[in-house]
Amino acid sequence: MSEIEQGFPRPKGDRTHAIVGDGITALAFFEAALKRDIDHIVVVGKQAGQLGRGAAYAKGEPGTPWRFAYLLNSPADDIDPQFAKWLAGRWDAITEKMQNRSPDWLGAAATLLQNDDLYGVNAPREFYGDYMEEQARNLISDFEGRGVSVTFMDDIATSLEVSEDQVGITTQNGRTLSAQSVDVAPGGPSTMRIKGDDGPFSVPSVFGFEERIAEHIRAGSEIFCIGGNAAMLDVLRLCQSLIPEDELRFVACAPDGEIPTPLVPRLPRKLTVPEFTSGHHSAETFLAEVRREIDKALAAGDEMREIRAGFRAHFLQNPLSGYLPDVEKARKVPGALRFWLRGGTRDTIQDMHRFVRNGKARVVKGLVQEVRALDSGAEVVVTDESGARQHIKTGFVVNCAGAGPGSRFDPLTEDMLAQGLLSRSHVGGGLQVGAGCQTSAPRIRYLSPAVSEIGDEVVAMPLYDAHMLRSYVARAL
Ligand SMILES: Cc1cc2nc3c(=O)[nH]c(=O)nc-3n(C[C@H](O)[C@H](O)[C@H](O)COP(=O)(O)OP(=O)(O)OC[C@H]3O[C@@H](n4cnc5c(N)ncnc54)[C@H](O)[C@@H]3O)c2cc1C
Repeated sequence: MSEIEQGFPRPKGDRTHAIVGDGITALAFFEAALKRDIDHIVVVGKQAGQLGRGAAYAKGEPGTPWRFAYLLNSPADDIDPQFAKWLAGRWDAITEKMQNRSPDWLGAAATLLQNDDLYGVNAPREFYGDYMEEQARNLISDFEGRGVSVTFMDDIATSLEVSEDQVGITTQNGRTLSAQSVDVAPGGPSTMRIKGDDGPFSVPSVFGFEERIAEHIRAGSEIFCIGGNAAMLDVLRLCQSLIPEDELRFVACAPDGEIPTPLVPRLPRKLTVPEFTSGHHSAETFLAEVRREIDKALAAGDEMREIRAGFRAHFLQNPLSGYLPDVEKARKVPGALRFWLRGGTRDTIQDMHRFVRNGKARVVKGLVQEVRALDSGAEVVVTDESGARQHIKTGFVVNCAGAGPGSRFDPLTEDMLAQGLLSRSHVGGGLQVGAGCQTSAPRIRYLSPAVSEIGDEVVAMPLYDAHMLRSYVARAL
């Protein structure tokens, strides 16, 4: 009999499957578990009762101006055609909810709606979380209909103890449970820390620090983002939700000094179809073909949305090993693909370009080394390509740098690495799991955006993508 301690109902039978994590990957594992012959399923997550939301699609605080401000990076049907359909079915309620909001999301969606392309909108991320939570509720009914009991445990798993016929899970609140099999989906690592990013005029992340950042936005401070990707775009939305556009003062600092390309949907939907030759012996020759195919598509007038989604579909069907069999050489590919196929939220990127043109925002090229607190603001130390230092005075700094050297994983992933259940690639530091997302213990599987190798396969396009994560869980069976 599986032992479920400290307030957990004992299952009717003795076969328990556990899932660690409460985001979309955990939900995909939850769905896949319908095929398991089990009596009980337990989900251990920070907010397990909101399974499907995770860190990315969290429920916002009611009444805050920035609620619903953070958007999905891709058109709704690129994330999931079923989600786009769900959104369209609730359009009247959504219009009511988004009425008179700043920034004007409905205004930004207007051209798409005129073209009868509601599926192309960049939906607020919270709505995708609503959709996912609804999927979770339906799955709970399916489990219960089959006589499988479901337990949600709001807690953080900290370690695993693997024995011959079961796995013990210990949590931050000192609880323990045993299961015959476990799927672990704890999300990616923390944003890398930068010296001085947690001071009187700086915060180490946007998420969870909105109230503090808002004080400074409202006071008219210039907001300086370390990093030029998705989290920076969220900070811009936060600013837009709080003050009129003509009061905005915004800086994004990124090593390449560039803003990602907006992912603009067009009708009819199109996917670029790349063509590569097989039998490459070096990453360089394969990457030259990748670059050629991207340039060819751009010259033919394809949008980055079409190229990116087309490449994603291609590599989901045609793994990298088919073109470049040497794993060591294949490890050089994802970094370049990630950079070349960079794209993001249409609404916000178009706004950012407008603000740059109007002198309300600027993009600084360089690498932030340190943030120093001054009497009434901050000084950011930035190095350029030549190593020359600039000292930039600003109002308030938000670290949006993303994962990097020094990032920490959640406690369970750290434990699994220490036990050798997972390993890290020496190129880029991504996580390595076995075929079918198996860890080195046969009863435990693992998938997160930080996974860069599955079995003998180097994942060509990084897994920081809802569609890719769900696809890899579906095929892990
Ligand atoms: C802010 C943000 C915005 C994003 N926007 C997009 C987007 O627009 N489109 C897109 O395709 N992708 C986006 N992504 C990429 C994103 O990583 C994936 O789409 C997806 O959400 C990852 O889901 P996940 O379930 O693997 O991880 P997460 O969403 O990170 O969920 C993991 C959850 O598990 C919990 N957890 C972690 N460790 C433990 C533990 N030890 N025990 C218990 N629970 C634990 C965490 O608290 C978290 O809630 C975004 C990511 C973030 C962080």
